[in-house]
Amino acid sequence: MPAAPSASQEEVRRQNLGAVLRYVHLHGPTSRAELTTRLGLNRSTIGALAADLAASGLVTEEAPTTARRAGRPSLVVSPRSDRVYAQALSIDADRLRAARVGLGGRILDLREVARPSGMSTVDAVGPLADLVRDMERCVAADALLVGGAVAVTDTTRDADDRIRIVGIDGTLGAALDAELSAGPGFVAGDLADIAGLAEHVRGVAAGVDDLIYLHGGLGISAGIIMGGRLVIGHRGHSGKVGHMVVNPNGLPCGCGSRGCWETEISETALLRHAGRDPHDRAAVAEVLRAAADGDRTAREAVERVADWLGFGVANLVNVVNPDAVVFGGSLGDIFAAGADVVRERLDAMPLAVSREHLRLEAAALGPDAVLIGAAELAFDKLLADPLNVGVAGQLRTTNPA
Ligand SMILES: [Zn+2]
Repeated sequence: MPAAPSASQEEVRRQNLGAVLRYVHLHGPTSRAELTTRLGLNRSTIGALAADLAASGLVTEEAPTTARRAGRPSLVVSPRSDRVYAQALSIDADRLRAARVGLGGRILDLREVARPSGMSTVDAVGPLADLVRDMERCVAADALLVGGAVAVTDTTRDADDRIRIVGIDGTLGAALDAELSAGPGFVAGDLADIAGLAEHVRGVAAGVDDLIYLHGGLGISAGIIMGGRLVIGHRGHSGKVGHMVVNPNGLPCGCGSRGCWETEISETALLRHAGRDPHDRAAVAEVLRAAADGDRTAREAVERVADWLGFGVANLVNVVNPDAVVFGGSLGDIFAAGADVVRERLDAMPLAVSREHLRLEAAALGPDAVLIGAAELAFDKLLADPLNVGVAGQLRTTNPA
């Protein structure tokens, strides 16, 4: 009778299962031969791990469609994106969104409703739960829900790393779980942090471990990743770079201070300089288009905002020394329109050691970044321990439709 596997053998197996599943989750269908090379494990180990993951319904294994050379082809391991999924939610400034995101990062279903101005995060729980229930009605019976996450602005984080929303007795995640009777155990995170995570994992900064992601919308905030890990600060309140004072003689800011960075680089600032209604968010794209078409007022508005954008980024770069700064939300479009002006500041202001290696990039994932990043948070548990997610998955079937 063989000896029971030791705890350390089990731990090694769990880590190896996680490594294989994470690889195909991030890189898509991959042959056993390539997994052997990439993960530094031997062929028989990869074969056994892939077979275990396939038996659990997390991946498929198939012969490649085109055999490239003679001999037995290496089976291709693919994530079961159609079956294994997470619920990814976001509370944006002006809309609520809910998506089902399949293993592998593919958005399978997406619902949204407008968030009326003045709607609190507390009041958003009910409508978000409605979106989730709508989506769940379309899910196949054998689908496996492995987790959920919600991206939100205006948060405070508990000592246990969960986010508490003022006015809810408990956390936002717990409130959503309760509203759904048996949710998947939602975790919550800051919207800019989560969008930054998405760009770090799948977007323009994939493989970059030290980066600043700047998210622009009505306000400006940052997701800062150092050494591959999000910097969240006390109760999750790091990255409020929009309130870095850059112009002591500038305009009053909603936070009570004066001359904050976001008074110079937000959508509102761009619209004001362009002589447009500062509250008409739809006009941002029109101003950028007019600037591209050579309209002088629009061009000057873009250049003025881009100059302040570069000014602030130069200071952040001296503090953090990242390898990349990524501009997302509407700030991605503003950066793209005024990149030359931003770069002039970056060429002149930071120390050489902080700027020589620096990449400036517009975000690649667009408005989906927040949902894709939330799904990455939600997949964490599965990827850490792939064969022990069945319990969480069964929650869906106990969830009243
Ligand atoms: Zn402020």
